[in-house]
Amino acid sequence: MKKPTFTVCGKNDLILVAGAGGFIGGSLVRYFTEKGFTRIRAVDRKPLPEWYQRTGGVECLSMDLSNEDNCKRAVEGAVEVYNLAADMGGMGFIERFRVLCLRSILINTHLLEAAYRAGVARYFYSSSACAYNTKLQADPHSRALKETDAYPAYAERGYGWEKLMSEMFCQEYTAERGMRTAIARFHNVYGPWGTWDGGREKAPAALCRKVIIAKDQGADTLEIWGDGSQCRSYMYIDDCLLGIDKIMHCNELIATPINLGTSELISVNKLASLAEQIGGVKLKRKYLLDAPKGVAGRNSDNTMIKRILNWKPSIPISQGLTTTYQWIEQQYHDRKAGRKTVKDAP
Ligand code: NAD
Repeated sequence: MKKPTFTVCGKNDLILVAGAGGFIGGSLVRYFTEKGFTRIRAVDRKPLPEWYQRTGGVECLSMDLSNEDNCKRAVEGAVEVYNLAADMGGMGFIERFRVLCLRSILINTHLLEAAYRAGVARYFYSSSACAYNTKLQADPHSRALKETDAYPAYAERGYGWEKLMSEMFCQEYTAERGMRTAIARFHNVYGPWGTWDGGREKAPAALCRKVIIAKDQGADTLEIWGDGSQCRSYMYIDDCLLGIDKIMHCNELIATPINLGTSELISVNKLASLAEQIGGVKLKRKYLLDAPKGVAGRNSDNTMIKRILNWKPSIPISQGLTTTYQWIEQQYHDRKAGRKTVKDAP
C-alpha cells in the first residue's frame, strides 16, 4: 500500500482554533502548544472566564463566529484553521434545539469564506456521525457506518443536516476554488475538560455525574434515558486529538470525510455498569422511556482510517471512563466546596 504524505505547517505559523472555549477545541489548543507551536489564536463565543481550558501563551479572543466580520478578524494571518465551533450537545440538546444546531452553518460558512480569502493553507471541519443516514441505525447492533453511508442522505434532523451541508461547503471550496479542506466525522468524544452537566453533556459524562451524585447523596437509583439498549462507540479525547492532526495534514484526505471514532460498541446499560463499577456502587435502574435517546445503534467502521493513516484508537472505554469519572468527581466536589471548577475557571 502507498504511504500517505503529510504537509505540516511551521512551528511559528499561526494556527486558529475556533470553538476553543469548548471541550475539543480547548484540548486541541493544549495539544498544539505541547507540540511546540508558538502562535495559536483561540476563539470562542463564550466570555473568557467560561472557557473550559485556557493554555498559557495563547491569544484568546471572545467573538461570535456566526458573524462575518468576526470571522475575517479571526483568520487574519492564519496558516491553518480548525473549526470546532458549533452549538452542540448530547441527545437531550440536539433533539430539542434543532434550529440552534442548524444555525451553526453560519459559523462554517463565514469562517471558510474568510479563510479562503485570507489565503489560509488548510482548513479543518469537525463533522459528526450524526451526518449518517439514520435509517441505517435502527437496530442497536446495526452494522458499523462507513464513509459512503452518508448518502443517500437521511441525516439526524437539525444537527446532522448542518454537518452534512457544512461538509459539502468544504468539499466544494476544494473542488471549485482549490482550497485544502479536511473533514472528520467524530463519533462520540469524551474525557476530562468536557461538558459534564447543564444539559449539553453526553452519555459518558452524564452517567459518571449521576453515579457520583448518587454516591455523595446516598441515593440508590440511577436514571437512564430510554431502555438502555441503545449502542454507541466512544472515543477518548487524546485519540481524537491525534486523529485530527493526522487527518488535517494528510494530502490523500483533502476534502474527504472520514470517520474518527472507535469501533468498541457499548450499550448505555453497559456504560452505566462501568460507571458504577468505577464508583464502587450498584444502583437500581430507573428507565425514562420518553427521554431523548437518538438512533438505536451507531458504530464507526474504521477500515478507511486504518488503511490510509494506520490510525486506531489506543484507549479502551474502561480506561478512558475511569480518568473521566475521576475528573468529574473532582469537579463535583470542588464545586460543592466552593472551589473553582471548569465552569468558574480560570
Ligand atoms: P463544545 O460545546 O464543548 O464546544 C463548542 C464550542 O463552540 C463552545 O465552546 C461554544 O461556545 C463555541 N461556539 C458555539 N457557537 C459559536 C459561535 N457562534 N462563535 C464562536 N464560538 C461558538 O463541543 P465539542 O464537544 O468540543 O465539539 C466540538 C466540535 O466537534 C463541534 O463541531 C461538534 O459538533 C463536533 N463533534 C463533537 C462530538 C463530541 O462527542 N464531543 C461528536 C461529533 C462532533
